[in-house]
Amino acid sequence: MKYDRILIRYGEITLKGRNRNKFVEKLRGSVKAALVSFPRVKIEASRDRMYVILNEENGDEIIPLLKGIFGIYSFSPAVKVEKDIEKMKVAALDLFAKIYKKGQTFKITTKRSDKSFQLNTEELNHLFGAHLLINTPELKVNVKNPDIDLRIEIREDAAYLSCETIYGAGGLPVGSSGKAMLMLSGGIDSPVAGHLAMKRGMGIEAIHFFSPPYTSERSKQKVIDLSKQLAKVSGMLTLHVVPFTEIQEIIRKQVPENYSMTTTRRLMLKIADEIRNRRKGLAIITGESLGQVASQTLESMYAINDVTNTPVLRPLITMDKTEIIKIAKEINTLDISIRPFEDCCTIFVPSSPKTKPKKEKVQFYESFLDFTPFIEKAVNETELIHIKPESQKEEDSFHELF
Ligand code: ATP
Ligand code: MG
Repeated sequence: MKYDRILIRYGEITLKGRNRNKFVEKLRGSVKAALVSFPRVKIEASRDRMYVILNEENGDEIIPLLKGIFGIYSFSPAVKVEKDIEKMKVAALDLFAKIYKKGQTFKITTKRSDKSFQLNTEELNHLFGAHLLINTPELKVNVKNPDIDLRIEIREDAAYLSCETIYGAGGLPVGSSGKAMLMLSGGIDSPVAGHLAMKRGMGIEAIHFFSPPYTSERSKQKVIDLSKQLAKVSGMLTLHVVPFTEIQEIIRKQVPENYSMTTTRRLMLKIADEIRNRRKGLAIITGESLGQVASQTLESMYAINDVTNTPVLRPLITMDKTEIIKIAKEINTLDISIRPFEDCCTIFVPSSPKTKPKKEKVQFYESFLDFTPFIEKAVNETELIHIKPESQKEEDSFHELF
């Protein structure tokens, strides 16, 4: 059985009246990016549905890829059959037998845009219903709530048959909600936060703070590999690698040890915000989860967040570690995250960081030195890496002036 096309239903985006065209275009972009290795595929999009026309590409390989695309509520692969009743009967039974399990119920739904076709929808429903019943043991009809709905569409060019509804990832198409900057460490949490942000339609760019020689090239490679994994969903991802060694050394000299973690986080956020500003992003995303470590108490977040008015989004804030790990497994980032390389934040970790830092105190400690030139230098020397999804060619890495 060879599929001819796949019908995609949008779900939530159909609710978004005026913006619908933009949503459809973003979704078309996501589908196109996910299917780059199938060059013969054509995408036809209208306001309320989309078709992936396979043009002889393998539908069974394409189906798993569609399952991961945000903005797809459900989809149904369809076969194309000549408008000949006998051929349609054979195709209907083939298609049905592929998914039928003993004891299931069914109905037939027919749509006829070719009004000149010799049978009307009711006649077609009866004819195909009877054919399936005769040829399938223990099959029963259930019009209200069937297990399988065999849909037959009689169009001008041919008949299209489908009976499977496969659920997609839901959410909104990536990029349809604007752009945000993801603070991406090499840990378990931040890639999950990025994934969830993309699920709600955010386009993301990643920012990583890198402190050579305290952190190694291998820890940078880990972040590149995580970015590649995220790029499978977004199609393309820009990673900003910020040189952070100098600032960390200054903090160590300048700020009392128990406040150094708070200042480090404040400066990371400030730098991330400056990059966001230059890249025209609208928010910053972190992988923080309340109470997980010293920097993730409400008091800490209050003292750290003080450096910016930009929305700081924390998709994991209420999640337990076990819930986060479960998602990390599903999105294939866990195995990369647990590679044992150090992060810049762990190298200068004080023995007893303040879990309840005071905003006024940290402002006071920072007031003896103007950090502005160091922040600017770090931003200007940030390396930009354009990440392509795993399956594509190597990424290009180069310094780029903003
Ligand atoms: P993660 O698993 O994401 O590393 P974590 O539980 O280790 O999180 P922290 O190390 O306190 O928690 O980091 C909290 C958040 O700060 C991270 O989720 C990430 O968004 C950001 N962050 C930490 N280190 C870095 C870094 N080196 N570069 C960019 N962002 C970072
Ligand atoms: Mg971490």
